[in-house]
Amino acid sequence: MNRSETANNLKRRLPSVNIVLQEMADVIDLRGHSEVSKVVAITIDGLRQKITLGANPEVSVDGIRAATIEQLEEKNQPSLKPVINLTGTVLHTNLGRAVLPQEALDAVVRVAGAPSNLEFDLAQGGRGERDSHIETLICELTGAEAATVVNNNAAAVLLTLNTLASNREVPVSRGELVEIGGSFRIPEVMLGSGCQLVEIGATNRTHLKDYAAAIGDNTALLLKVHTSNYRIEGFTESVSEIDLAKLAQQHQLPLVADLGSGSLVDFSALGLPHESTAAESIANGVDIITFSGDKLLGGPQCGIIAGRKALIDQINKNPLKRALRLDKMTLAALAEVLKLYRDPLSLTNKLPTLRYLTRPLADMQQQAQRLVPAVRAALPKTFHVGSKTGYSQIGSGALPVETLETIVLSIAPLEVNDSAVRKLSDALRALPCAIIGRIHKGELLLDLRCLDDEDTFLQQLQLLADA
Ligand SMILES: *Cc1c(COP(=O)(O)O)cnc(C)c1O
Repeated sequence: MNRSETANNLKRRLPSVNIVLQEMADVIDLRGHSEVSKVVAITIDGLRQKITLGANPEVSVDGIRAATIEQLEEKNQPSLKPVINLTGTVLHTNLGRAVLPQEALDAVVRVAGAPSNLEFDLAQGGRGERDSHIETLICELTGAEAATVVNNNAAAVLLTLNTLASNREVPVSRGELVEIGGSFRIPEVMLGSGCQLVEIGATNRTHLKDYAAAIGDNTALLLKVHTSNYRIEGFTESVSEIDLAKLAQQHQLPLVADLGSGSLVDFSALGLPHESTAAESIANGVDIITFSGDKLLGGPQCGIIAGRKALIDQINKNPLKRALRLDKMTLAALAEVLKLYRDPLSLTNKLPTLRYLTRPLADMQQQAQRLVPAVRAALPKTFHVGSKTGYSQIGSGALPVETLETIVLSIAPLEVNDSAVRKLSDALRALPCAIIGRIHKGELLLDLRCLDDEDTFLQQLQLLADA
């Protein structure tokens, strides 16, 4: 037989889609007839093409069944999935920022799988308010008169400015025209919200008189922006909230502050770098504050707007509010996270973000002692595995200059070999539960600060060793 006769013979032996489907009742139960027959047909087509190209693949029903199951499984892998964050950045925007506490996870599951009183007043039997589930909590924790929530802090700033300053002027210090990761730049958000930015002062120094001079007939409000992710040092001056609030009041203008992270507890009491709190801003006379839910607060992605009731009422009437509002799962999670703040002493235990940020060095040292042998055993002998102190970052632009002393596992090739380190880092990311570290000066560093789930980490190492 010549080659094309062999190929034709093989093609004739290829089973039909229907014959294969007869052996796949269990898979059809799971994935549905149309999906399974589609993938079986693709598998058989693939074999036919291989044969045309001169290959001699297995053409049995069993073989096709197995290949189909494998493809179906791959197709149905979740795209969005958990990873192990050993980058040393606690609030890593690309890794989903804050990890939610169990109380919040339970609440999400409760409201997601059943109807809820999201906008239904159970006492009156009529329409209720979506914000009612979190407003009192936010007011309790910040001292504000009223509050609302939207999709993120960028949306909070946009909605606040669009409501209170559309087509009017807003003076902002040149030292506060920040860019926060990629697409959030204060000047651009202001443009998008329809207000006109009036730049005042200098990059390093802005005085009260600069604000005073900028106030005119068309001024809508005064805006102060937390310079979250950078710090100006040296010959600097900025105006305090208290002084700005006085000036704003004299001119009957609202003072709005974008706090960025906006902490709800005194960080210095937890042994962390000081960050002013939302309650302090309200007490200082700021009329509207906005801050993120998933930065230092440790909750779900959202933006909180709190302050004077008359202004919050206006914000709620803006049609954009509807476009930016929160869904029920986020509201449920946020309410539970906020409740944890009623007992500040338990926060470093119950709220993952604060637990990671305050994790004792000794705890991580002990973990390193447990893990070094396991990592060593999983890797080729060409790597040296040890542990040492390093520095974690808080992340998400919160407290950018401060770092936290930490313990890292350090993995270094015995001889300098950057490509071996990169390959190892790639292999760790390719695991079913990706392990994400960082490469620094020819070493792969795995920061233990956020490693809660040691079992999953060890399982992944085992898979790496097996591979
Ligand atoms: C992070 C940040 C934002 C954006 O908040 P998101 O919740 O990420 O939308 C806005 N302003 C400041 C000052 C920030 O630090």
